[in-house]
Amino acid sequence: MFAYTYIKKGKFELLEKPRPVLLAPGDAIVRVTLASICSSDLHIKHGSVPRAVPGITVGHEMLGVVESVGSAVAKFRPGDRVTVNVETFCGDCFFCRNGYVNNCEDPNGGWALGCRIDGGLAEYVRVPCADQGLDLIPDSVTDQQALFVGDVLATGYWAAEIADIGAGDTVLIIGAGPTGICTLLCALLKSPGRVIVCETDPVRRRFVEDHYPDVLTVDPHSTDAAAFVREHSAHGGADSVLEAAGTAETFRLAWQCARPNATVTIVALYEETQMLPLPEMYGKNLTFKTGGVDGCHCADILRLIQAGRIDTTPLITHTYPLSRIEEAFELFENRRDNVIKVAVRP
Ligand SMILES: [Zn+2]
Ligand SMILES: [Zn+2]
Repeated sequence: MFAYTYIKKGKFELLEKPRPVLLAPGDAIVRVTLASICSSDLHIKHGSVPRAVPGITVGHEMLGVVESVGSAVAKFRPGDRVTVNVETFCGDCFFCRNGYVNNCEDPNGGWALGCRIDGGLAEYVRVPCADQGLDLIPDSVTDQQALFVGDVLATGYWAAEIADIGAGDTVLIIGAGPTGICTLLCALLKSPGRVIVCETDPVRRRFVEDHYPDVLTVDPHSTDAAAFVREHSAHGGADSVLEAAGTAETFRLAWQCARPNATVTIVALYEETQMLPLPEMYGKNLTFKTGGVDGCHCADILRLIQAGRIDTTPLITHTYPLSRIEEAFELFENRRDNVIKVAVRP
C-alpha cells in the first residue's frame, strides 16, 4: 500500500509499504476512506516534534472502515464505519478514569498515531486500544461531516468544555485557523451572548464573517483589539478567552482582553516559551487553563453532528487523492488558494 512517510527533517515521501497487521489483542486495522492534513504534521516536517520517529507513516486525522480486529476488541467488528482518535488511551489508568486521556500512562498513550507509530495518511492504519480509539459513525453522517471528529474538532470541543463559558457571556477566540473555527463552533453551543474572533489574516476573517454572521471579527493589526473587546463586553473584557493562534502577540492579547476573574484557555501549541508578566497582571485574578486535548468525547461530538448542531464541512476547501499528497501538502503549508483544510482520499 502507499503511505506518506516521514523520512528526515524537511522531507516526507509517498512510499510503498506492507499493509499493517494486528500486533496486539486490542488492535484494529482500519481501511482509511478519508484523511486530512494537520498543522502538527508540518511541525513534524520542520523537525519541531522531537518524539516523531523517522520512517513512520504520518497522518492522525482520518476515518474509515474496520477491516479486522484483535481478540480483545469488544465494541467493533469488520465493516463498521469509524472515526479514529488522534490519541491512544487505555481507558483504565488513573488519568483515563478521570477523563485526562492525553496523559494516559500506556506506552502508546497520548499522541502516538502518525508521530511515534504509523498513522493514517495511508491506505490502512493499525489502531491500538481500538475500543477507546475508535467511534462508530452514525449512518446518516457522511465521511466529510465526520472527518475532523478525532483531532481538530475534538480539540475545539475540549477547549469549549473547560473554558467556563456561561449563557450570555462574551467569548473571545483568538485565531481563526481550523482549530480556532472548531473552537468557535463548540463555544457557540454554550449560548454565549457575544462571540468575537480576533484574526490577522483577511481570508480567515472573511471565512468567519461569511459562515457565522453573528460573530464579530477584529484585526489586531489595524484595531486596538483590547479596546474593541472592552467595548463589546459588559464587564471590561471577555468573560472567557480561548487562544488558538500560538504567537507571543496572541498570548499577550489573551490575558489583556480578559476581564478580571475571567478564564483564559490556551488551546494553541507554541513553538517558544511565553512570558507571564505577573506584576502587570496583579489584581486581575485570572484562571489559566492549558492544553493538550483530552479527546474522549468523540461519541458526543458525532451525536451533535448527527443532530445538525455542528457542521465542519465548510472547512474542507480542497480534496486530493493520496497519490497527489505532495501537492496537497504544498498548498496547505503555503496557505495557497484560501485553503482552510484539505481532505485526502487514499
Ligand atoms: Zn492534529
Ligand atoms: Zn490510560
